[in-house]
Amino acid sequence: MSTTVNRQFRLAARPVGLPKRNDWNLVEEPLREPGDGEFLVRIEYISLDPAMRGWMNEGKSYVPPVGIGEVMRAYAGGEVVASRHPKFAVGEHVAGTFGVQEYARSNGKGITRVDTKLAALPVYLGALGMPGMTAYFGLLDVGAAQSGDTVVVSGAAGAVGSIVGQIAKIKGCRAVGIAGGAEKCRWLVDELGFDVAIDYKGEDVKAALKRHCPQGINVYFDNVGGDILDAALTQLAMHARIVVCGAISQYNTTAPVKGPSNYLALLVCRARMQGMVVFDYAARYADAAHEVAGWIAQGKLKTREDIVDGFETFPDALLKLFSGENTGKLVLQVT
Ligand code: NAP
Repeated sequence: MSTTVNRQFRLAARPVGLPKRNDWNLVEEPLREPGDGEFLVRIEYISLDPAMRGWMNEGKSYVPPVGIGEVMRAYAGGEVVASRHPKFAVGEHVAGTFGVQEYARSNGKGITRVDTKLAALPVYLGALGMPGMTAYFGLLDVGAAQSGDTVVVSGAAGAVGSIVGQIAKIKGCRAVGIAGGAEKCRWLVDELGFDVAIDYKGEDVKAALKRHCPQGINVYFDNVGGDILDAALTQLAMHARIVVCGAISQYNTTAPVKGPSNYLALLVCRARMQGMVVFDYAARYADAAHEVAGWIAQGKLKTREDIVDGFETFPDALLKLFSGENTGKLVLQVT
């Protein structure tokens, strides 16, 4: 190891609204050698995920909040640079919940080995990682998408949404994306093969859904919540499935979360609205990732990583998710 210092972003305060630079402290701590049964990872890429905003809040959720003073939780990928672990050797690449720091020690629990000959490391934080698994299981298990279905996905040009629409096409569905801006919509249709893309910043979403989904929506994969969820509820087909994957429009609100006022459409259409947490599918990740890797290799599924450079830019880089500056999977490059 050439350095003796590990830089880390530690949570300093619980944000109110959008996170601010001083909600974290950038600290340096001495780099410690791995103990018995441990290895040390030099982190190369850190995944920036909307969920990180939720992890900063106090209160009950599907994982405990990050404690004040703790290293900010994040998925990341890097190279093993020292090892006293029997199963992880120096030079191997790995991905796991290593946190927003330059180095992490690990005992190997929950860590995925990464084959960088198969795909570049950032892809394992996107299509072959947590967002890809969310798209796969959310669409196929929770959404039960079938050939011939009309699938509508919001946040369509992001990490999860861009994979949802492409898997929908692979499975013989009609894919309708909702995203912010003409360029994102062009990318979805011209390059990813979505049938239609609706620019929610420039169009009336309710009217556009009515026009583009004349037979109704069979699966609505919701990444954003709020008004777009409400609009989708007005256009459901009978026995529609709504996948509650996320609600990014609500994550930084200081007002009460805006719930759907059109929920009686569930009654009328005998529809189902179901939440999902991707971790519940961990036992099936390997098989799903194998299938997704096959689609990538066959050119049926395209991946896009939006890579931001510079460890110290982390607080600003995270905000790109909420301003919609990212297209595809947002990743912070450390080295
Ligand atoms: P992402 O879509 O790559 O990035 C976030 C995108 O959200 C932005 O690019 C922006 O795109 C859009 N957005 C931001 N504010 C918005 C608003 N007010 N209204 C509408 N759209 C807005 O993020 P991701 O990692 O793929 O995550 C997508 C969703 O899935 C999030 O809600 C996340 O929490 C959820 N998720 C859930 C699970 C689970 O297990 N349940 C796992 C992973 C992710 P535009 O330019 O189009 O606005």
